[in-house]
Amino acid sequence: SMLYPSMMFRLNNIDPVKAGEAWRTIPALMEKAEAAGEHRFPRKAAIVRPQRSQIEWRVNFTQLARPDGAAINGLEADDLTRGEIEGRRQVVEAFNFLRTVPGFENSYIVDLPPQLGIRETRRVIGGHMLSGEDVLGCGSFDDSIGVNGWPIESHVAGDVIFTFPPIPQSRGFNELPYRMLVPEGIDNLLVAGRCASMTHDGQSAARVSGACFAMGEAAGTAAALALDGNASPRHIDVGTLQSRLRHHGAFIGRDQVVPEGL
Ligand SMILES: Cc1cc2nc3c(=O)[nH]c(=O)nc-3n(C[C@H](O)[C@H](O)[C@H](O)COP(=O)(O)OP(=O)(O)OC[C@H]3O[C@@H](n4cnc5c(N)ncnc54)[C@H](O)[C@@H]3O)c2cc1C
Repeated sequence: SMLYPSMMFRLNNIDPVKAGEAWRTIPALMEKAEAAGEHRFPRKAAIVRPQRSQIEWRVNFTQLARPDGAAINGLEADDLTRGEIEGRRQVVEAFNFLRTVPGFENSYIVDLPPQLGIRETRRVIGGHMLSGEDVLGCGSFDDSIGVNGWPIESHVAGDVIFTFPPIPQSRGFNELPYRMLVPEGIDNLLVAGRCASMTHDGQSAARVSGACFAMGEAAGTAAALALDGNASPRHIDVGTLQSRLRHHGAFIGRDQVVPEGL
């Protein structure tokens, strides 16, 4: 089963003082509401967070499944239709519950996404498939083009499970090899983002935006190098790619000093 998709939404008109650190208390309130038979939720581990303007919060609360309980398949039109309809229904249910949370009484839905959020479908197979072991073992690669600091985030039936590398015993991030971006079976193509070469577990971590930014910058820089040298992306000089990325301020791990806060 692939990672379950979600229909995100944003709420506005929240009282920031009254809401306080509601992101910490909401999971316990959900448990209470379920035990009292007042609400049923598609998953535990709701992620409800204030935005830069504290009256607005974003809500990652829903989980979309097929009738048999497996994840909605983002490659199937019928599944996607079901996800759009069921996602909106779950948003309304989540909203009805959230209006009972102190500080959220007068909130309203600002927007729904134009499309259901799909976390995982197809990926290419490159010279290396980033794995769960690479993430949990803080893997290092000679051809690193960036890093990922996000843990394994498994969207499984009814829950979201985060598995972190051991911190502080480890540095807490893994390097991303250039080979993830270079498909094995086809030349003159670079694949960056959530469809790069990763296993199911590896993708559940490195699909997030930080790692996708790093892969995108590396793919763009590699494409320019390939054009300059009249070479295919597979045959560019990775050392030159790495020094260009560093020159532009990228953190690629290796022997670089870890930036403060990472
Ligand atoms: C519900 C949900 C919640 C998430 N929450 C978080 C989070 O809190 N933090 C986090 O870091 N990550 C989060 N992620 C993960 C992250 O947002 C994505 O994995 C990441 O944005 C993927 O980046 P990408 O560049 O691979 O794809 P995308 O960001 O989807 O970019 C692909 C782009 O290509 C465009 N496109 C598609 N087809 C064409 C075409 N034929 N021609 C031109 N353009 C085209 C699309 O419009 C899109 O803009 C979440 C994902 C989901 C689904």
